[in-house]
Amino acid sequence: MIEDLLPSLGFALFERRDDGLFDPIGITPEWLPVTTNPVDLGEDFPVLGMFLSDCEEEWTGQSDIWDQSVPAGGKRSLLARATVAKDRRFIAVHLLPQVMNEWQQKGANLGLSKERIEKDKREIERLNRELARATQAKSDFLAAMSHEIRTPLNAIIGMADVLSGTALTADQKKCVEVFQRNGMGLLTLINDILDLSKVEAGKVELEITEFDLHDVISRAMEVVDVRVRAKALSLRQVVAPDVPVRLMGDPNRLRQILINLLGNSIKFTEKGGLEVRVVCDPDDRRPGRLRFGVSDTGIGIPRDKLGAIFESFSQADSSTTRKYGGTGLGLAISKQLVELMDGRIWVESEVGVGSVFCFTAGFQVLEGAAAPPPAEKTAAVRSLEELESLCAGLRILLADDSEDNRYLIFSYLKEAQVTIDVAENGEIAVRMFREGHYDIVLMDVEMPVMDGYQATGEIRRFEADTQAQPAPVLALTAHAFAEMAVRGREAGFTALLTKPIRKITLLEGLVDHAPKNRVRHADTSYAPAVASGRNVVEVEDGMEDVVPAYLDKRRAEIPVYLAALDRADFDTIRNLGHKMKGTGTGYGFPVLTEIGGVLEQAAKTGEAALIRESLRRLQLYVESVDLKYSR
Ligand code: ADP
Repeated sequence: MIEDLLPSLGFALFERRDDGLFDPIGITPEWLPVTTNPVDLGEDFPVLGMFLSDCEEEWTGQSDIWDQSVPAGGKRSLLARATVAKDRRFIAVHLLPQVMNEWQQKGANLGLSKERIEKDKREIERLNRELARATQAKSDFLAAMSHEIRTPLNAIIGMADVLSGTALTADQKKCVEVFQRNGMGLLTLINDILDLSKVEAGKVELEITEFDLHDVISRAMEVVDVRVRAKALSLRQVVAPDVPVRLMGDPNRLRQILINLLGNSIKFTEKGGLEVRVVCDPDDRRPGRLRFGVSDTGIGIPRDKLGAIFESFSQADSSTTRKYGGTGLGLAISKQLVELMDGRIWVESEVGVGSVFCFTAGFQVLEGAAAPPPAEKTAAVRSLEELESLCAGLRILLADDSEDNRYLIFSYLKEAQVTIDVAENGEIAVRMFREGHYDIVLMDVEMPVMDGYQATGEIRRFEADTQAQPAPVLALTAHAFAEMAVRGREAGFTALLTKPIRKITLLEGLVDHAPKNRVRHADTSYAPAVASGRNVVEVEDGMEDVVPAYLDKRRAEIPVYLAALDRADFDTIRNLGHKMKGTGTGYGFPVLTEIGGVLEQAAKTGEAALIRESLRRLQLYVESVDLKYSR
């Protein structure tokens, strides 16, 4: 019988009965152990149970493969197929050849691993999205935190500035100096954290402008010059002759990296010298690929710490902060910036001998055109008094919800003879702007009810509707993020003053942005004199003999200051500044009192650039004074 041949061909055949059991057709093979006759396939082979009920409707298809233990020992792989012939329903069970079973298994495994890869891919995508969200949250948090910290810090630093300009005892002065120094220190820390998080969040975009390499290096060296002198170290730059010096790239970020590295070198070096060296990158001969090296003869870095120091908040030695100060962020920021410039940064160092920090970066090389002139500030140096007098008569609308900030602005503008109207939020500011006539608006950005963006937008719409000349709106913001500038411009801000705002910045902002006719026509005794480049000072009766001599002395002192600055003799500068501060106003020169105060202060903190600038102002002033005698 043909049916009896089926088992030897690897088949067992069953016909389904109406009661759901199965009649075997021919001999039941030994590799398919069944317990009854008729056979209950679902009961004997549980894998089939599900298949049988699935194919009940159409009686077609095939089951999963299953392994079946056989009485002879071992396992066989089986598979069942449902088929209909002449309205009779059959189940054929196949004995699978071993090799086919293996392939089936591999196929199944392959399917599984494909599924796993797909799953892993989805998981990675999910984690990436989460990471992006977390980075965004971190950056938002830092922006918010910076705002929360900068706002009160603004009040602290500003008030300390105001206080230091008043008559104080020596003890009180010391206290105010502590406020100022620590306030500025805290601000630097916040700026560093923000800087790093901005780069990490991909929010820093490099500028691409023309620059001169020598200029960038010199400016970086200028910033650290005082500290180099104070420690009697040497500092030199070596730029290899084949290095192109006229480049396109981001000079500010390059300078920032150099200042960071030089700052560290000075901090960790007690004797010897520093050097900035630039060569064409020997490992990458493409034009504009440069290698910078900042070397020192300082304490060096232990070998096992060389890698870690580039991580955030990481210092070679935990006692470093105590001894040398610092936050461990400088190198992390430098590393991120270098990577933005398509370069890498590394260090070679030996303890007790010194360190060389190297980095590479890529720039575009400019050919032909003449070197751009250094970006000198051409604006005349203006003293606080001059600025105050130029502001006189301005009608200012100040929108700020913080009473402390409002008080600070009032204190800054106390001497300026301006009128200030206050709005506690953006909505009130818009209403007041519509009703009043203001020359300029100082607009805080974050306010309740209506924020500064919205309020400025409303003001711009009102001006457009009434065809009025747009009033300058200066945003007062604690946010330092670059996108703030973009959003601010879109909202219609004229300029952005970042808190903490110093008195001079506020006054310069007002003078530079107020409508020209309002500033020039300011009705003050100073303005005409300033406009003509001369300062007329009335000599009080009885002072005719002493005032010219006093002025001569101040003129004669300028070379003394400069010589002292050259040898980093800050004590002399502080003493001279202190004396001028104490005497200037008494002789009729409040400007000299103010410059003296700045010199004294700058000498205490060793700020050479500020001292130099103040000396320029001093020179300008003493040379432009015309004495006017009443008799
Ligand atoms: P910090 O604010 O602490 O200086 P950095 O990120 O700039 O932060 O530097 C991290 C650490 O690397 C420093 O604390 C110091 O231990 C080490 N370091 C950096 N530059 C030098 C250097 N020129 N000589 C010796 N150690 C250095």
